[in-house]
Amino acid sequence: MKTAIFPGSFDPPSLGHLDIIKRASEICDKLYVAIAINTTRYKELFTHEERVSLLKKITKELPNVEVISFSGLIVEFVKENKIAYIVRGLRAFSDFEYEFRMALANRKIGNVETLFLMADAELAYISATLIRELTFFGKRLHDFVPEEIEPFIFERLKASKTLS
Ligand code: ADP
Repeated sequence: MKTAIFPGSFDPPSLGHLDIIKRASEICDKLYVAIAINTTRYKELFTHEERVSLLKKITKELPNVEVISFSGLIVEFVKENKIAYIVRGLRAFSDFEYEFRMALANRKIGNVETLFLMADAELAYISATLIRELTFFGKRLHDFVPEEIEPFIFERLKASKTLS
């Protein structure tokens, strides 16, 4: 059985993430969508637990997809759990350099292969950073996130405006 893992921060989960999840789940027998704990260097939109719950919501129709959390080095997690591949999405040249280095490092450290899926042409402009910026300006997000996610983002925005 070929298992793969799609790691990321998913803050928030986007249509770009969901596209990679669907396509990768068709290639492998089992896909773990893995949310990294404690790697955020920015102000979070959703907590770790909230992201787990949102990702579970949007992947509930995909039977071979499981949402999990991980901390530490992905390559160690991969070895401990006998996962065959790391899956990553590639949007633009700007993703390439970082991803190329990570894939080489993961192969060197853990002998783990990384599978890259090219972003869908219609979704390649989407990034979590862009979504967080648009959220702040109160823009509609239906072109960026799955429809189940948008109300949660607006709730979060309302709460943060009430608090500040
Ligand atoms: P982001 O880079 O948007 O902050 P993550 O850090 O959670 O998102 O990224 C996790 C993975 O999802 C990475 O491999 C990234 O390249 C991929 N990804 C993010 N957005 C897209 C998209 N629009 N299309 C394809 N892959 C994407």
